Amino acid sequence: MKKVGLIGWRGMVGSVLMQRMKETDDFKRLYPVFFSTTESQKGQANPDFSSIIGKIQDAYHIETLRSLDIILTCQGAEYTNRVYPKLRATGWQGYWIDAASSLRMEKDSVIALDPVNLNLIACALNRGIKTFVGGNCTVSLILMSMGGLFNASLIEWVSFATYQAASGAGARHMRELLTQMGFLYTEVGSQLQDPAATILSIEREIMALTQSGDLPTDCFEAPLATSLIPWIDIASANGQTREEWKTEVEAHKILNNKTMIPIDGICVRVGALRCHSQAITLKLKKDVSIKEIEQILGSYHEWVKVIPNKKQATLNGLTPAAISGTLDLPVGRLRKLSMGPKYLSAFTVGDQLLWGAAEPLRRMLNLLL
Ligand code: NAP
Repeated sequence: MKKVGLIGWRGMVGSVLMQRMKETDDFKRLYPVFFSTTESQKGQANPDFSSIIGKIQDAYHIETLRSLDIILTCQGAEYTNRVYPKLRATGWQGYWIDAASSLRMEKDSVIALDPVNLNLIACALNRGIKTFVGGNCTVSLILMSMGGLFNASLIEWVSFATYQAASGAGARHMRELLTQMGFLYTEVGSQLQDPAATILSIEREIMALTQSGDLPTDCFEAPLATSLIPWIDIASANGQTREEWKTEVEAHKILNNKTMIPIDGICVRVGALRCHSQAITLKLKKDVSIKEIEQILGSYHEWVKVIPNKKQATLNGLTPAAISGTLDLPVGRLRKLSMGPKYLSAFTVGDQLLWGAAEPLRRMLNLLL
């Protein structure tokens, strides 16, 4: 059995990964070694995801890491930057699977999203590539949802606006959003119970607290509850944020197309807890009927669910609340725009902790096993 080092399994992505690996019996196919970067965790008994008895190892101990066939890390970019070069420098020839962005654009790495690029992964394995990285969550979700149209070479360009959940930024950010919500509710709770209170006086109090600087904003740097933040990650060139920049370059690398399809838009943080949504406008290369588009999208793989462009179907199946914790990838609000028959509008939702993070890594591990 292959010895697989699991690093970052305590974090949010890691916990979702462990849960999926348990559900799918992956632990029966490998010999797991659990690691931590946290002093207090090292030397503790293995978590009970598998029946293997052992102790949690030091994730910085290069000699222990060298004994592994495969390393799967969801620890984060800082860990990867610190450990990966040192480990490879020792001549370690094992497979490295990573959730962090650090190695995504390296020439000797492949961004793994096998329902979209299994052929590319297979070729890379034949060429001896040993480093496989999960894509940015928004990129993976757009390609998983709209992949049928990319695959059919029907797309001239894509523009998107994202609605990204707080959990995309990490556990502390989720707590901050919920704490902000709690502060705001406490401020106006009694007025809400009073039918005589006017909604504009409630709104004034909410906004006064929101703008007072008293809400906790250490993580998001601005209030998110009852608001939104149209900026994710650091600034990049051309006025883009890094999150926006990633979309086109990573999509291009995943699809391995000879010609670059322009993919650009704006990434926005919203007060959803889990699941990212994307409003997509795209230009088709030719006029294709909505019926045919639905058929192309829906038959791309088993997780895409085409949602009829009707109110009830949308409320039932095309929201973060409806699909959180599932592998479903609903695509709806499909219609031609008034700009002309080649202009298509779509709305997609996906669990960014599953298809946007843990699931492609789990599947890559299974391909190796
Ligand atoms: P996270 O929840 O902050 O966890 C990362 C690490 O923090 C854990 O593995 C753990 O390290 C450490 N940690 C410290 N205190 C902890 C505590 N009380 N409970 C649990 N863990 C604690 O980060 P994440 O959101 O999973 O992201 C990990 C990587 O995946 C990042 O590179 C991120 O960019 C990437 N990613 C995230 C998402 C997303 O939606 N969040 C999507 C795609 C990619 P030790 O296990 O070493 O002790």
